[in-house]
Amino acid sequence: MIIKKIENDFISAKTKSGIYPFKLDICLYIVDGLLIDAGSGAILKKTRSLIKGNKINSVALTHVHEDHTGAAAWIKESLQVPVYLHRHSIAEASMKSSIPLYRWLVWRNRDAFTADPMPEFIETDKYRFDVINAPGHHQDHVVFHEKSRGWLFSGDLYVSRRQAVAFKDENIGDAIVSIQKILELDFDTIFCGHSGIQKKGKEKLRSKLDYFLTLQEKVRALEKEGLESREIDRRLFPKKNLWTVLSGGEWSSLNMVKTI
Ligand SMILES: [Zn+2]
Repeated sequence: MIIKKIENDFISAKTKSGIYPFKLDICLYIVDGLLIDAGSGAILKKTRSLIKGNKINSVALTHVHEDHTGAAAWIKESLQVPVYLHRHSIAEASMKSSIPLYRWLVWRNRDAFTADPMPEFIETDKYRFDVINAPGHHQDHVVFHEKSRGWLFSGDLYVSRRQAVAFKDENIGDAIVSIQKILELDFDTIFCGHSGIQKKGKEKLRSKLDYFLTLQEKVRALEKEGLESREIDRRLFPKKNLWTVLSGGEWSSLNMVKTI
């Protein structure tokens, strides 16, 4: 894990999850005793030693996906601190995840855990994090906004300026509405669950919105010509992504087209 000290009471931890060639980045944050997201099962050992070396008073999860909740069960058992999750995802978290092979190779399964219902805001000694619903990547996805510092802990809302494939749980139409709502907030730095610290985060998030809106216009224009989703997908994304093949279509540009 690459640990970066951002401030006295604030660190970020970045590492890769999975086995070659199925490796993806994960980023966790500990701010004034609050752990934001809990990594994947594949990095559990590293997350455990990170946690052992830092005081954790509570945990806030942006969403229930296995790459954000991998250490939640262990934390709940060994630290007995609140582990907050969107209330609509608590039932899902109470059962061990059962994921297809391609996701298992990268993330591994998540153990069952008893989550605590997400409050409207989370206060630490020094900070206040407003919890804001931001569906799109997942319908119960939330982000954490520390207004006085201009920080946005964005989970999987941002990840990158462009996006070529959408996951089966994703809804790009909802993501557009969420990004528009989040852009109304005061923030400058994004702390992303995968791509790490993004300075000028607002500009970057705006450019993701522009990309989605342009794509939406193209999809609508082709729809008007009478084209079906599959044909629109073939025209707009002629090259198929490796993840689409491996995931049997769970992660695909077709999901982008259908939900935009
Ligand atoms: Zn996710």
